[in-house]
Amino acid sequence: MAKVAFIGLGNMGGPMAANLVKAGHQVHAFDLSAAALEAVAAQGAIAANSAVAAVQGADFVISMLPAGKHVAALYLGDDGVAAHLAPGALVMDCSTIDAATARQVGAGLAARGIAFVDAPVSGGVGGAKAGTLTFIVGGTEEHFAKASSVLSAMGKNLFHAGAVGAGQVAKICNNMLLSVLMVGTSEALQLGIDNGLDPKVLSDIMLKSSGRNWTLELYNPCPDVLPNVPSSNDYQGGFMVDLMAKDLGLAAECAQLSQSSTPMGALARNVYVQHQRQGNGKLDFSSIFRFFSRKSN
Ligand code: NAD
Repeated sequence: MAKVAFIGLGNMGGPMAANLVKAGHQVHAFDLSAAALEAVAAQGAIAANSAVAAVQGADFVISMLPAGKHVAALYLGDDGVAAHLAPGALVMDCSTIDAATARQVGAGLAARGIAFVDAPVSGGVGGAKAGTLTFIVGGTEEHFAKASSVLSAMGKNLFHAGAVGAGQVAKICNNMLLSVLMVGTSEALQLGIDNGLDPKVLSDIMLKSSGRNWTLELYNPCPDVLPNVPSSNDYQGGFMVDLMAKDLGLAAECAQLSQSSTPMGALARNVYVQHQRQGNGKLDFSSIFRFFSRKSN
């Protein structure tokens, strides 16, 4: 079993680190929040008093941080950990960040002979707890194979998207598409309701027609069409509007850098940011359905 340093023990990182402990890895954990660190130590991780202390002698380093600036500072900042990593260590950043920063961190570490993959996840807090996350990895074939030996303790599906940064690009492509589908499904259902249709009947019709898609089938945004989805639970749980808005911002940045045209993604970002500004940031992203409803607007 490997010696793994884990930095960033929040909603996602905490349960991911706990699953590594369960799999028998020796986990040296660090978080700026004492409470987050204590919670993971209570599950068998070794609490380090700094990120530098956590990475000493580690075979693998995993980070699960809020944004690109935190990841860049952790590895390449003035008091970053890059100079303290063991030769032969593999760094895996599982945060969702911009691909440009992932490439910059990868290059900075490569210059010191340290291997790096970006490995953002999908599956949310539920997947992190259950150990069923999907990891979308960017890096060399060799580093992907090495990373898989540890990532498999926290996830069920591991994809190799391409070179460093490709994991982040694939993740935001997926989430941008998801947001467009969710907005489109919501406005179509609302149009039907406004014209007297039963949303369950309309959903059944569209599921057998060409409008069929994942949000309609498995994550219907209209309350009480499907059981056990956030829309039928007052939009609690699931994937927060705040996180969707963040990912759509990353998609917009990425599109600007590659001069890609993403009009539907840009529109979905504006709709989600407006919904967020109306105080809905902590609701599940399917709550965008309410954005189109007469009652709440
Ligand atoms: P979170 O805010 O719950 O956790 C982040 C943790 O990082 C916090 O505990 C914070 O104290 C710690 N931290 C910040 N800077 C640090 C530093 N320099 N050193 C050590 N610790 C530091 O966030 P989260 O929900 O766990 O999300 C983490 C990442 O995963 C984000 O990039 C997010 O976009 C991505 N993600 C989240 C979800 C989700 O459903 N929550 C799903 C997929 C991806």
